[in-house]
This record gives sequence, C-alpha cells and structure tokens, in this order.
Amino acid sequence: MESRGTKREAGKIEVAEPRNKLPRPAPSLPTDPALYSGPFPFYRRPSELGCFSLDAQRQYHGDARALRYYSPPPTNGQSPNFDLRDGYPDRYQPRDEEVQERLDHLLRWLLAHRGQLEGGPGWLAGAIVTWRGHLTKLLTTPYERQEGWQLAASRFQGTLYLSEVETPTARVQRLTRPPLLRELMYMGYKFEQYMCADKPGVSPDPSGEVNTNVAFCSVLRSRLGNHPLLFSGEVDCTDPQAPSTQPPTCYVELKTSKEMHSPGQWKSFYRHKLLKWWAQSFLPGVPNVVAGFRNPEGFVCSLKTFPTMEMFEYVRNDRDGWNPSVCMNFCAAFLSFAQNTVVHDDPRLVYLFSWEPGGPVTVSEHRDAPHAFLPPWYVEAVTQDLPSPPKTPSPKD
Ligand code: GDP
Ligand code: MG
Repeated sequence: MESRGTKREAGKIEVAEPRNKLPRPAPSLPTDPALYSGPFPFYRRPSELGCFSLDAQRQYHGDARALRYYSPPPTNGQSPNFDLRDGYPDRYQPRDEEVQERLDHLLRWLLAHRGQLEGGPGWLAGAIVTWRGHLTKLLTTPYERQEGWQLAASRFQGTLYLSEVETPTARVQRLTRPPLLRELMYMGYKFEQYMCADKPGVSPDPSGEVNTNVAFCSVLRSRLGNHPLLFSGEVDCTDPQAPSTQPPTCYVELKTSKEMHSPGQWKSFYRHKLLKWWAQSFLPGVPNVVAGFRNPEGFVCSLKTFPTMEMFEYVRNDRDGWNPSVCMNFCAAFLSFAQNTVVHDDPRLVYLFSWEPGGPVTVSEHRDAPHAFLPPWYVEAVTQDLPSPPKTPSPKD
C-alpha cells in the first residue's frame, strides 16, 4: 500500500548509528488500517463549551440565532414527498467558496471565551484547536481511497492549531464541478429546509431561499487519548423532543442519499457513506443522523434514523467494512505525530501535513504567506495579555 518509505521508519529515528552521520529519514506516518487495529482509545464524552452563528451575509454572531429546530413530517402513515430540486437555482444563495475562512470564526469565539474556559489554567496551552470537519477527515483516512488532504499546523502559546488547506486537485474539482453535482449539493441543503423550522413546535417553511452562508456552530471540548481537543462543528438542528435537551445530545444531523433497491447497494452504503456519517457525528457526540432517501427524480419519499452508536453494527461482520477503533487510533497517532513535529512555538511557522491515498502522511515546513493561517488580530490580542512578559523598557518610557 505505502508507496513512499516503509512502515518501519514511520516517525522513528534511527539510533544504531550516530545521528549526525546519517541523513535522518524524513518523518512520515503510515495510514494502513492494519497498523491501527488495537482497542478503542479513550475518547472523552464531548461537552459543549458554547456556540456561534453565521448569518446570511456570513457575518459572525456570538449566539445561537442560526440554530434550527427539528420538525419532521407527521408520522400518520403517509410517506414524505419532498421535491429537493424545488427552488434551484433561482432560490439558491450559495456561499462564496473562494473565501478561505480557515479557523477565523472559531478563533473569534475563542478570543472572546478563552478567559472562561474550563479545565483549569493552562488547559488551552495543551490543547489542539481545529474544525470538526478536519478531524472527520483524519478519522476516515485509513479507509479513504479517493481524496487526499493537507492540514496546516502552527503552535502558538503551546496550543496546536490545525487548519485545512485545499489541495490543488480539490481546487480543480471545485472549479470544474459538474452542474449535476452542484444541484446535488443544493438538494442536501433543501432537505434541511424541509426538516427544520426557525422556532420550536412550528412547521418548516420550504418557500424561502436556501442560503448556505447561514450556519450554527457548536464549540466542543473532548480528549482523544492524551490529546485535549477544542473543536467546532456546524450543527443542522436541535430536536425539541429529544430525551435530553442538553447539547450535544439534542442535536440531529441531516443527510440525503440515493434510494437503494438491492442488498449490494445497501452493503456499499454501509461501507462508505455510513463511515463518513459516523465519523462526523461521533466526534461531537451527535446521537442521531436522519437520512432522507431520494429517488432518481430528486424526491425524498422515505426517512430513516441512524443512531450514531449503532452504525458500526452494519459493518461489524463485514471483512471489507470499517472499524471505529482503527479510525480513532489513527487520529490519535496523527495528533501525536503532529505534536512531535511542530516543535517551534511561532504563529508564522507552518508545518504542512500532506496525504494522498496509498501513501503515508508527509510533512513540509513553511513561513508566512501563503500558508500561515493564524490572523494578526488573533496573534496580537493573545500576545498582548500574556501574564506580564518580561519587558525591556523602551527609550520612550
Ligand atoms: P463539516 O463537518 O465538513 O461540515 O465541517 P464543520 O462542521 O467542521 O464546519 C466548519 C466550518 O466550515 C463551518 O463554518 C462550515 O460552514 C464550514 N464548511 C463546511 N463545509 C465546508 C466546505 O466544504 N468548504 C468550506 N470552505 N467551508 C466549509
Ligand atoms: Mg447535514
């Protein structure tokens, strides 16, 4: 599987010879699932630290104004009939994907709340800060055969920040996205509109626009092995009828998928789609994923709830299935690899971790533009109120 390097040299330093005599092999991390099939690692029950919203103009608000309420159609024996193509393209306001937001919105939340973080003094300095979606990609890496990724990493005041970089291939694919794929993306958001209301207890209103600038993001704390985590993820809706009203256990993730007709189609769905759904919802502790199955005409005629903690059962006895332990052990190994690689504490220094299917994760070092991603407003604000750093008096004072 590994095309570059061998498993033996992964992250290891040769010690048999004097270190300065041999060229040190470039560190790399293998991704073969067989290497990560140990027991399930410790994963702290995710707790919500706060939230924020992005409005129709993609402006940040430090509140839950964009949170929507789960409002499925009445279960009176009738099946739903949601036309997912309705409103396309005339009632579609897609987010500008050319804008690279990196960690900015999450950092804005963190700047406002880092003084009140639980976990005691110094918790943030030992933590990893990132988006949930970046962790999802790490979890699925051992099984991914199509899309590579790049993650930029910087250490600043102890904290390790991870921010995805769009790969050249992903950029080309985005810019040449076929019209049918664009419409399919719209259909996923349209489904949310059929299933969610702006207030609890009222029915959805699918007559309005679909604006993908709008987002509600939950900020969560967890820990994988010995890696404290602070990450944020976009949440589709909250269920006012959930057994617990406490986030994240009241949250619901909504998905659409093609209607399936043969056992082979279901098997493939369990192997590929459920892995991605599980990884995305397990990380923030979202307990249920509600799927709408669409027919070839783009209508959702059936719904099915997949409890996140039951997804693995569909592939447990499948030799070609996925294993949550492999996903989590690989993620923990990557986080250790990153912690050991990013040794200098410098917001202008970036270690770029790159991965393509079939190979190991490799690293390169960069300074400043274009890869540095911690914005000056964040670096300056956090630098200014360091607990009184030794200051040499300037000639002026
Ligand atoms: P997901 O798990 O992949 O949906 O991503 P997250 O929930 O971690 O989302 C993090 C932030 O990135 C949110 O503000 C999202 O609105 C935004 N986001 C989600 N998907 C994409 C994407 O494909 N491209 C870009 N640029 N931003 C995205
Ligand atoms: Mg969704």
